[in-house]
Amino acid sequence: MSRYSPSVARLISELGKLPGVGHKSAQRLAFHILAMPEEEVRNLSEALINARTSTRLCSVCQNFTDQDPCPICSDPKRDHGTICVVENPRDVATMERMRDYTGLYHVLHGVYSPLNNVGLDEIKIRELIERLREHPETKEVIIATNQTAEGEATAMYLGRLIKPAGIKVTRIASGLPMGSDLEYADDVTLSKAMQARHEF
Ligand SMILES: [Zn+2]
Repeated sequence: MSRYSPSVARLISELGKLPGVGHKSAQRLAFHILAMPEEEVRNLSEALINARTSTRLCSVCQNFTDQDPCPICSDPKRDHGTICVVENPRDVATMERMRDYTGLYHVLHGVYSPLNNVGLDEIKIRELIERLREHPETKEVIIATNQTAEGEATAMYLGRLIKPAGIKVTRIASGLPMGSDLEYADDVTLSKAMQARHEF
């Protein structure tokens, strides 16, 4: 029999499904939540539901958004001739933090990783190719997938796929440590890696 009442056991079990939250952390969070004022718990649960129901994917760049197209894709001041391809929505936030990139994005939502059963159809490659067809104003596609084996393989594949369309394809420079994720790069390193990008 569980040491906890069914409702507490359920809370622990649901929290434990979150990434990076083990059983011990789930217990700690659960008891923290139980000690919170009811009003705050209500706010938290409403924020969760609200974020989930009002967030969808931007039909252009595939990033999470409340409005479609997202604020970045619909901003006329941005450079609509450049698309930076990243693995996940966190990377867009990282790039935006850097501030000197003014182009658009395309979020793949993963990388090609046959060992982890992620095939080419499971990431947003088809959407990217269709987008390039619909937007002939695209002059350059910068591939900023992480510098891991999977990120490199995905970059190579995209390069081969896009280049024949006559679009310039560049890869973010390897100023970032090998195997590292974009989101851990500091702004200066990331900015340098962007400036020193090389053509495929
Ligand atoms: Zn968008």
